[in-house]
Amino acid sequence: MNILVINYGSSSIKYQVIDTRSETTLKSGNIERVGLDIAPDAAMRQLLATLQDCAIGAIGHRVVHGGDHFRQAAPIDDTVIGVIRECCKLAPLHNPRNLDGILAARAAFPEVPQVAVFDTAFHATLPEHAHTYALPQTHCRTHSLRRFGFHGTSHQYVAQKAAETLRRPLSELRLISLHLGNGASACALEGGRSVETSMGMTPLEGLVMGTRSGDLDPGALLYLMRQENFSVEDVDTLLNKQSGLLGVSGLSPDVRELEKAASEGHPGASLALAVFVHRVRKYLGAYLAILNGADAIILTGGIGENSPSMRQRILQDLSFAGIALDTAKNEARPTALQSVLEISSPQSRVKLLTIKTNEELMIAQQTLAALNTVP
Ligand code: ADP
Repeated sequence: MNILVINYGSSSIKYQVIDTRSETTLKSGNIERVGLDIAPDAAMRQLLATLQDCAIGAIGHRVVHGGDHFRQAAPIDDTVIGVIRECCKLAPLHNPRNLDGILAARAAFPEVPQVAVFDTAFHATLPEHAHTYALPQTHCRTHSLRRFGFHGTSHQYVAQKAAETLRRPLSELRLISLHLGNGASACALEGGRSVETSMGMTPLEGLVMGTRSGDLDPGALLYLMRQENFSVEDVDTLLNKQSGLLGVSGLSPDVRELEKAASEGHPGASLALAVFVHRVRKYLGAYLAILNGADAIILTGGIGENSPSMRQRILQDLSFAGIALDTAKNEARPTALQSVLEISSPQSRVKLLTIKTNEELMIAQQTLAALNTVP
């Protein structure tokens, strides 16, 4: 079946038409600067008009936040739309756009079944002690304050690929998945299920990201609000858009640029990369404790897939845990067809894998699965 996958982000619409039988992409594109150069509804209409001849059998939408309502992908009906709308307050940058995409696609393809695939659903298996914030529980219940986790489709996809590569059932494996892109998160998986992840109620918690702070002492925010008279909007902009690699380096959120600047002696760039690496290693150590060791560590996302030097800095000096990187394999350039690269040395007890993530294919597969469960 040909499935149209729509990933309507905060400022771009990415789409792919995927033939799920051959797992090939028939058509793909990216409309950028939506809301700036082109109005969102016009962008959607333009995109959908170009796909009228693609024999689309179903549409899968990436939806960022499903709250605690969904444990898996859901065929879209009015109830599901209502819940996605209710979750807008939890993801104000993303869910309203996801909803726009769903409504426009319903109008353009009224006969085609549609499915919402949630970033949060894969983490529905987090145990209570991992998703609970140490706050008064009355507030937590009233406001759904809990850790949800994101990047679920990516962590799930690379975990399946790792099991295939290792030729072992996913149900037997302890895996640590590091999705290191502009947004970054870590996930500990036991038997294919997410048992811990670094993002929380929102995608701000955890690792250092391009422009997001990740973990921070909440007291530092209270202090800034008092000292600088920061409003809620000011703090939102600070944490989401001005922090992370950009904030520390004062230069760029982009690891490629920072690696170049650091090699030319830019102290901010060096510090930003060092803080990023240190945070990832802290989580790696924590997840080794949670899982009592690991069978494999997976690196994915733009940085995990493409930066040998960042991989080396993250994975070096971990011999206490039986982790040994093969530096020559780590430097090898994968061919276009190679989506998995094993970079551990033969004596490493923990396999080290870089895996090219494919969230669109995962969304297409989950769309298909969700529709098969509908009578
Ligand atoms: P997004 O979260 O927006 O999908 P990506 O997964 O594409 O982001 O990751 C973007 C990050 O990957 C950027 O920091 C970019 O610099 C980094 N990156 C991409 N290619 C390379 C490379 N060859 N070397 C180092 N970093 C890279």
